[in-house]
Amino acid sequence: MSEPLLSVKDLKIHYAVKSKNRLGNAVAYSKAVDGVSFDVYKGETFGVVGESGCGKSTTGKAIVRLLEPTSGDILFDGVPSHTYSRKELARRVQIIFQDPYSSLDPRMTVGRCIEEPLLVHGIGTRAERRSRALQLMADVGLREDQYTRFPHEFSGGQRQRIGVARAIALQPELVVCDEPVSALDVSIQAQILNLMQDLQKKYSLTYIFISHNLSVVKHLCDRIAVMYLGHIVELADKKGLFEMPSHPYTKALLAAIPIADPDVESMTGELSGDVPSPLNPPAGCCFHTRCPYATERCVAEAPQLREISPGHSVACHLCGAAQP
Ligand code: SF4
Repeated sequence: MSEPLLSVKDLKIHYAVKSKNRLGNAVAYSKAVDGVSFDVYKGETFGVVGESGCGKSTTGKAIVRLLEPTSGDILFDGVPSHTYSRKELARRVQIIFQDPYSSLDPRMTVGRCIEEPLLVHGIGTRAERRSRALQLMADVGLREDQYTRFPHEFSGGQRQRIGVARAIALQPELVVCDEPVSALDVSIQAQILNLMQDLQKKYSLTYIFISHNLSVVKHLCDRIAVMYLGHIVELADKKGLFEMPSHPYTKALLAAIPIADPDVESMTGELSGDVPSPLNPPAGCCFHTRCPYATERCVAEAPQLREISPGHSVACHLCGAAQP
């Protein structure tokens, strides 16, 4: 493969969450992301999946610098992202937010929402910005007469189309898509996903697609990282992950996908218990409190993410060994 467009190396994002003690020190940290590393290549769609609270959105926000990492490196085009000015990084890396209701300013018309990034970056005259906004509206399936309307006049799907148009207004190279369809009806989800695929081809975009929905990720992504409690537990291309899942957590997630066939029983109940608190993560393997195959070694020693076949990495002591 060519040089990665984005490299995330040992990224940690820890939040101080308890009140300070008498000496003025924070006494507890929530380890939202705890040592995550991956590369994203130009033109691909890289999926990040996991349950709520696994750190996937936090990772995405750190990539666009809405959050500052506690430690670790984020390299964009081979250069540490913190060395870019915020404007330069925003021009090259954008984000589509999950909630199309709260991510648009209710006082701005659609046209102004889409033109704002161009205005902030001093791109074009007023007439050129308007023309570009109208082009983007057409690209995402909005009509010209909707230019002067306000967000409250639109449905959720239409609002997300506005969010997509705004995200690509500066022609970024990388777009972090933070659960962009999870707040939408299922019928609308497919429309937005197809739109994103069309725009990826048209504008040569690279996506990081964050989702808790494995079916959506399977439809859209080339490679996928599975996250659990701030760690990547499995990373593989789509074929490897869906045809030969290796980590017990990935297997449990796949088994829980509903099957649209009344004669086929879907396998639920593989996972017991809740995700532990990132304030007090388990020692050893972060998954051992819910893993049906956990051994004493799993409690004592954290498994490293290691390659089990080309492009397929897993963090599990049992990997390579037969699981019951
Ligand atoms: Fe389960 Fe142990 Fe593998 Fe962790 S290392 S996933 S606890 S078998």
